[in-house]
Amino acid sequence: MAAPEYDLFVIGAGSGGVRAARMAASAGARVAVAEQSRLGGTCVNLGCIPKKLMVYASHFSEEFRDARGYGWTLGPARFDWTCFRERKDREIERLNRIYEDLLRRAGVEILTGHARLRGPGEVEVAGRCHRARHILIATGGAPHLPRIPGIEHAITSNEVFHLEALPSRIVVVGGGYIAVEFAGILHGLGCEVVQLYRGPLFLRGFDEDLRRALAEEMRARGIDLRFEARVVALERKGDRRIAILEDGSHLEAEQVLYATGRRPLTAGLGLEEAGVLLREDGAIAVDRYSRTNVPGIFAIGDVTDRLNLTPVAIHEAMCLVRTLFEDRPTAPDHDNVPRAVFAQPPLATVGLSEEEARRRLDRVVVYRERFRPLKHTLSENPERSLVKLVVDGNTDRVVGAHMVGPDAPEILQGVAIAVKAGLTKADFDATVGIHPTSAEEFVTLRTPVEG
Ligand code: NDP
Repeated sequence: MAAPEYDLFVIGAGSGGVRAARMAASAGARVAVAEQSRLGGTCVNLGCIPKKLMVYASHFSEEFRDARGYGWTLGPARFDWTCFRERKDREIERLNRIYEDLLRRAGVEILTGHARLRGPGEVEVAGRCHRARHILIATGGAPHLPRIPGIEHAITSNEVFHLEALPSRIVVVGGGYIAVEFAGILHGLGCEVVQLYRGPLFLRGFDEDLRRALAEEMRARGIDLRFEARVVALERKGDRRIAILEDGSHLEAEQVLYATGRRPLTAGLGLEEAGVLLREDGAIAVDRYSRTNVPGIFAIGDVTDRLNLTPVAIHEAMCLVRTLFEDRPTAPDHDNVPRAVFAQPPLATVGLSEEEARRRLDRVVVYRERFRPLKHTLSENPERSLVKLVVDGNTDRVVGAHMVGPDAPEILQGVAIAVKAGLTKADFDATVGIHPTSAEEFVTLRTPVEG
């Protein structure tokens, strides 16, 4: 049999795949990456980056309002969606080119087309078979829509970035990251937003104080946030969409955005024929080292549905390259990964929620402060921030840190180092604050919450 052409063949040039390909090539491996769409994957093209640019765009409306309290008089402000969309798209194209440059400069061969496993160590792309010593599947995920009548009238996060026009009214369905982020973005851009979540409180799994505080602030901003609201069907009447709820009520809007989770992209990869096992939820089953059950086939990122975040996929990629090409078997560490929801106001968190800590530990001490950020005094913006520390009462170790409020993601990144390092509440207390900031609240929490 012919010697393999490549040491590593990566399927999918998203955050994880690109990092694995580049790092493996830098370690001296012969590497190819196959991509059927644009380089950069979800994060660059249909996720984190364009989303964050939209968050910035939508924030200006609040800034303009707040500026008045500081003595500014502003003329009428108008948002031009087409102008923003074109500028955003140009930036994404620039990033696509940067990804291409990075790969080429590292010596990675880029193959365009759909890749499919053909046999042991064999991948077919655009009618040509390639042999590789190791194959890495990093195909990511895609929005998942529930099967209800009329679901074809809904859009997902894939379409929202490229809308012809911004709707004047939109129904957002879901209570996870994407639904909460787009409810805030679209509201800030001037759309009337109704957000529907099927359960009693959105952002399941996050600390409950955070979830409640965010719901309060989103409602105070004017988002029509409804819990225990289940859509049973969608209809279309000309340009209007109608969401029919379980209680029989109807909601009319120009668009309905479904953000009801994402599923791993595994179809058409030849996984079944190759004998690669999937978990019950459709994700590729991997062990601690990102190995599938088939020797020589690995998987990282959203297609493995471990923690579906860009930096986690990148971390998994780095660990795999160390394992395969640097003779240092390294398992990714999924503990204490900080996370943010770019809601308005944003939310960020690291470690255990209070509820999770109470399930796992026998003594938990909680510190919490709800406060009005200094900036909101002159602007008379009524929004209040929340910071919270969850401490193991036996060891004094800070096991969770949480925040809702302006700059929460920027602030939590630093706090996450302390939590990851296993520092104690006494270490937090021994740290002098930076005044006046919201971040200093994390080192000035003195009195535990009763109970
Ligand atoms: P999530 O898994 O975060 O949330 C899905 C939401 O949809 C939940 O509220 C869920 O409710 C609800 N839902 C699921 N099925 C149905 C249904 N049939 N009908 C009605 N509601 C339903 O998914 P997202 O799509 O928001 O995001 C996907 C993933 O992408 C995230 O989990 C995250 O890993 C990643 N992401 C990260 C971001 C960040 O880091 N800032 C930003 C965007 C995405 P329930 O809770 O009741 O199950």
